[in-house]
Amino acid sequence: MKIGFIGLGVMGGPMATNLAKDGRFEVTGFDLDSDKVSNLATAGGCAASSVREAATDRDVVMTSLPGPKQIEQVAFDSGLIDSLVSDSCWIDLSTNNQSTRRKLVDAVHSHGASFLDAPVSGGDEGARAGTLTILAGGDREVFERCLPVFEVIGANINHLGSHGAGYAAKIAQVVLCYLHSLALGEAMMLGVKGGVAPAKMLDIIQNSTGKSYVSDRYGPPIVNGDYDPSFTVGLAHKDMRLANEMASDLGIDLPMCELTTKTYARAIEEFGFDANHLKAVRLLEDDHQTYLQQPNSE
Ligand code: NAD
Repeated sequence: MKIGFIGLGVMGGPMATNLAKDGRFEVTGFDLDSDKVSNLATAGGCAASSVREAATDRDVVMTSLPGPKQIEQVAFDSGLIDSLVSDSCWIDLSTNNQSTRRKLVDAVHSHGASFLDAPVSGGDEGARAGTLTILAGGDREVFERCLPVFEVIGANINHLGSHGAGYAAKIAQVVLCYLHSLALGEAMMLGVKGGVAPAKMLDIIQNSTGKSYVSDRYGPPIVNGDYDPSFTVGLAHKDMRLANEMASDLGIDLPMCELTTKTYARAIEEFGFDANHLKAVRLLEDDHQTYLQQPNSE
C-alpha cells in the first residue's frame, strides 16, 4: 500500500515512522520543515518536496496538521485534493472542525476518492508507541479498508459513525485535558498557599479522588517547572476554540469551556503561541506570586 503523509510534527512524525518501519507500506512524507522530512527518510520512508508529490498516486493520504486553516491550505491551495486518484482515501488525523470537514468531504468525493476524519488521542508517547486511540468517522467499508494502517498507529480503534463523528468525539474528550489542567493548578495553589509542599500536594492528589491522567502526566512538569513541551499552548487554545464553535453550532452553553478558552488565549498573549501548554497554569502562579515548583527542582 502506498501512503502519502503530510505534517510530520510531534504526532505525525512518529506515526509516519512507525508506518515506514512496519515494512508493508511505502510511506512518502512532506512537511514545511525539511528536517522532519529528512528524519522520515532516515527511518525508511521517502522524502517529498511538496504536498502534491506526497499525495499523487497514493492509496492512502494521511494528514496531521495544526488546525482547520492549515488543512484547508494543504487541501485546496497546495493541491492535495487535486492529486487524489479515484478509489484512494484521505485520512485526516488532525483535530479539525465540522465546517472544514463539510468542504473537504464534498471536494474529495467529487474526485471519486473517500475521506475519513480520524483524529487521535494519546499524546506524543502514544504516537511513538503506536498505541493511540483513533476516533474515526466516515463510511464503514472505507474504514475497514484502512484498518491495516490504523492497527500500526493505534491500539484503541473506533468507528463512530458517519463523517464528522470522529472530530466531534475528539473535541468533546479533549476539553477535559485543558479543564483538568487548570483545575489541577487551582487545587495545587490552594494546598501550597495553605502550607503544603508542592510535590507532597501533587502526591496527595495522585492518591485521592482527584487523580486523573492529567494529574499523573502533567502534575510532574508543573512541579519540576518545565511545563511539558509535548504540545503548545497555541494548539491547546485551538482545541478549546473548536469546542466553543461546536457548542455554539449545537446551541449549548458551556461556561467552563468558555472560561478555559479565555485563560489559554491569555497564556498565548503572555508567553507566545509556541510556549508549552502548561504555561496556562503559570498565569495563575504569576497572578498569586506563588509558584508550584518544588524549591530544589527549579
Ligand atoms: P505540530 O505542530 O508538532 O505538527 C504539525 C506539523 O504540520 C508541523 O511539523 C508543521 O511544520 C506542519 N505543517 C504546518 N502547515 C503545513 C503545510 N501547509 N504543509 C505541510 N506541513 C505543514 O503539531 P502536533 O502536536 O503534531 O499536532 C498535529 C495535530 O494533532 C493537531 O491537529 C493537534 O491538535 C492534534 N493532536 C496533537 C496531540 C499532541 O499531544 N501533540 C495529541 C492529539 C492530537
